[in-house]
Amino acid sequence: MPAIFLKPGKDKPVRQRHPWIFSGAIARVEGAPRAGAIVDVRAHDGRWLARAEYNPRSQILARAFCWDKNTQADDAFWRERLAAAIARRDAFAPGAEARRLVFAESDGLPGLILDQYRDHLAAQFLTAGAEARKAMTVRHLIDLLAPVSIIERDDSMRRKEGLPSTDGTLYGHLPDDPLIIVEHGLRFRVDLRSGQKTGFYLDQAANRAALAPFSAGREVLNAFSYTGAFAVHALAAGASHVINLDASAEALALAEANLRLNGFSPERWETIQADVFSQLRLWRDEGRRFDLIILDPPKFATSRRTLSRAARGYKDINWLAMRLLRPGGLLATFSCSGLVSRDLFQKILFGAALDAGRDARIVGHFFQSPDHPVLLTFPEAAYLKGFLLHLV
Ligand code: SAH
Repeated sequence: MPAIFLKPGKDKPVRQRHPWIFSGAIARVEGAPRAGAIVDVRAHDGRWLARAEYNPRSQILARAFCWDKNTQADDAFWRERLAAAIARRDAFAPGAEARRLVFAESDGLPGLILDQYRDHLAAQFLTAGAEARKAMTVRHLIDLLAPVSIIERDDSMRRKEGLPSTDGTLYGHLPDDPLIIVEHGLRFRVDLRSGQKTGFYLDQAANRAALAPFSAGREVLNAFSYTGAFAVHALAAGASHVINLDASAEALALAEANLRLNGFSPERWETIQADVFSQLRLWRDEGRRFDLIILDPPKFATSRRTLSRAARGYKDINWLAMRLLRPGGLLATFSCSGLVSRDLFQKILFGAALDAGRDARIVGHFFQSPDHPVLLTFPEAAYLKGFLLHLV
C-alpha cells in the first residue's frame, strides 16, 4: 500500500480524525500513488494513523476516511458507508421527496455529494478519490435504492482537484417532463440537468419552513430568489405579497412556474430580473419599503483572497436591506461562504446596522438542513449560517 509520511508534529489533526491533510504537513510520499489512489497515512516515525485518498493535484493532498487499521477499503466497505449515510437520512429527513443522502466527508465519503429527488438521484464527484469510485458508487446505488435515473452534475470544485468538467446521465433515463417534488407540502419543479447545484437548494429546506410563519400578512422581498422556494413557502403561510429578485432569467422562469403550480393568485407575487445591489439602491432612493426581506446570496467568499471583498459585499446588501425595512420589519439573512464564520457574519451585520442607523436584534439562528450534517471532527462542513433580525 502506498503511504504518505507526515512531518514531525503534524499528526495531531489526523489523530483527531480531521479528514484533510494539506501538502504542507507531508514529509514524503512512498510508492508513487496516482490521483485517487488509497494510501496509508503514517506519522513521521512510521506509526499507522489512517487510510486516505490521495490527489497530488489538490491543495488537500489526501482525505482521510478510515481510522481503523484492520478495515480494508474494499467494495463492501464503500457499500456499507453509502448504506449508512442513506439510513441516517431516515432519521434526519424521513419521507422527504427531496433530500441530500450523502454529504461527502461528513458521511465518511470524501468528495461525494448525492441528492435524491423522488426516484431520481443527482451526484457530484468532487475529488479524485470520489471520481475513482464513481463506477462502483453507481453500482451500489442501483442496488441500494433502485433509482430510475442517476444524473451527474459538474461543480467548479472539480477544477481545484484537476478533474475535467462533466455532466450527463450515469444510469437510467430522466424523463423530459419537468420533475416535481413536494417540500413541506408545497410543490416545486426541479431541473436536475441544468439547475444550480443539483437542481434545488436542499440546504435551505428547514429554514424555508422555519421562516414561513413570520411571513403572514407581510410584504416580502425574496432577494437572490433562484426558483422562488422561499416565496412559495411565504405565500402559503399568508404573506400579502412577495417579490422574487434574481439576476437569472431561467431561475425566475422556474420561479413563476412554481408560484403557478402552487395556485397563488398572480396579484400576490412578482418576479424582477435585476442585480440585487443596484435594485436595492434604486428602491432606497425611491423610498420603497418591505416588512420581511430574505437575503440568500451565492457564495461571495470563494477563497481567502476574496474574503475581504466578500465581507464588503455582505455588508452592502445587508445595510441596504436594513434601510428598506419598515419599523418592526424582519431581515432573514444568510451566508453560505464556509470562510465566513457565524461570528464574522454577525460582526458584518453589526457594522451594517450601525451604518444604517437601525437597532437590530437577533431573534433567530439559521443553519443548514439536518440532511447536511456536520461531523464534530470536521467543522468545516458547517458552511450555511443565517440570522433572523428584528429591526425597530
Ligand atoms: N434562496 C434560493 C437560493 C439562492 S441561490 C433558494 O432557496 O432556492 C443564489 C441566487 O442568486 C442564484 O439564483 C443567482 O442567480 C442569484 N444571484 C447571484 N448574484 C446575483 C446578483 N448580483 N443579483 C441578483 N441575483 C444574483
